[in-house]
Amino acid sequence: MTKINCDLCGRIAEDLAKAVIEGVTLDVCKDCSKFGKVVSQPIRPGAKEQAKRFQSLQKEEKSETLVENFTELVKKKREAMNLTQKDFAGKINEKETMIHKIETGSFTPPLPLVKKIERLLGIKLTEEYSEAQETVRSSRREGFTLGDFIKVKGK
Ligand SMILES: [Zn+2]
Repeated sequence: MTKINCDLCGRIAEDLAKAVIEGVTLDVCKDCSKFGKVVSQPIRPGAKEQAKRFQSLQKEEKSETLVENFTELVKKKREAMNLTQKDFAGKINEKETMIHKIETGSFTPPLPLVKKIERLLGIKLTEEYSEAQETVRSSRREGFTLGDFIKVKGK
């Protein structure tokens, strides 16, 4: 049997699903698939239920966003832990260049990756925003999606 790694978390999974995340089609494990739009569900019992769960999770995801000083937090905490970008990258199965891009703000990591970074560094990098907060921040954030979020942060 061929083992396949999840494109996002690198975990070996038997039931990879194709999901579109940030406009890129990736083979992801079921944990990561909920962060993107699944284009093909793994064919197995319970897949329907999974799809349902996926939908409800997507809704929740909309209310979660990266904190403003995300890049700074990552860099500081990484350095405090005496990790080089390379060490850090290795621990979360990413390339060193990816960490560099994240820390310089030229790449906004997708939520699954953010979660991995949070776990590794033991810090919180996301915040939930309520509708009230949303109004204060910007009145033009209706229908906010992960894709929009990346555009906003990437400017
Ligand atoms: Zn995964």
